[in-house]
Amino acid sequence: MLSERDFFNETPETKQATFSCPHCRERAEYAVRWLRRTKKTALPRGANEQDRARFNKSRAYMVRVDDMLVCARCRRRFDIPNSQSVVFV
Ligand SMILES: [Zn+2]
Repeated sequence: MLSERDFFNETPETKQATFSCPHCRERAEYAVRWLRRTKKTALPRGANEQDRARFNKSRAYMVRVDDMLVCARCRRRFDIPNSQSVVFV
């Protein structure tokens, strides 16, 4: 059986977002890394019927790479607050 990686091409992307540091309350803009997974144009070799069904159902999406940021002011690490880590595109 094929894995998700066989279905998608991966492109790294960066999105700007504003977060407040939970330690010092400083609001700043951060570059958050994402991975865009675009569906391949054709199913790779070795795919079986089940893979084909999964491939047909799959959609392009973006997955967030970063979970933590370092505050621009106090330099302490904090979690990216509860925003989604997977987004369909
Ligand atoms: Zn801070």
